[in-house]
Amino acid sequence: MFFVWCKVAFRAVAALDLEAGGGHIPTMEKPFWKTKTLEAMSPAEWESLCDGCGKCCLSKLEDEDTGEIYWTSVGCRLFNADTCRCSDYANRLARVPDCVGLTPQNVRTITWLPRTCAYRLVAEGQDLYWWHRLVSGNAETVHEAGISIRGRVSASETELAEPDDYFGHLLDDEP
Ligand code: SF4
Ligand code: SF4
Repeated sequence: MFFVWCKVAFRAVAALDLEAGGGHIPTMEKPFWKTKTLEAMSPAEWESLCDGCGKCCLSKLEDEDTGEIYWTSVGCRLFNADTCRCSDYANRLARVPDCVGLTPQNVRTITWLPRTCAYRLVAEGQDLYWWHRLVSGNAETVHEAGISIRGRVSASETELAEPDDYFGHLLDDEP
């Protein structure tokens, strides 16, 4: 049996505070994501780390027998598929019970965080990709590189009533 789970996460893409990251400002100093642990980041640095891909706002199915996760192209009820952002980030946790706020702790335990997720990359000691806004200095590069889910959301969860309805929106792999 499958149940719908976990749009998750995160992040304030609504406020593109590139200054917080400083990655686009020429400097000899290493950027914060290379020198700080997730725990040591300021709130502004933490929020700026989100690349705006929107992947974690997609619904996933979990096989309750095996625990296996299956990605779908169904967006969360608050996800704006045009802007690729949460439409009510400030109140997301109150309005969407299965939206999980990311923390340095759960970033290391949520197994299905996308391989490209900046929080996962930093937690694993990896660098950010060229298309991350903190590296490129441009919030559009995550979309131009085909990393984000902008234009790839096939339905909103508000249009689907039963878990079985999600089967028509299954993805072969994580987006
Ligand atoms: S998957 Fe990670 S980087 Fe992408 S939107 Fe979610 S929290 Fe941000
Ligand atoms: S409530 Fe917002 S941040 Fe949370 S999963 Fe939905 S769209 Fe994403």
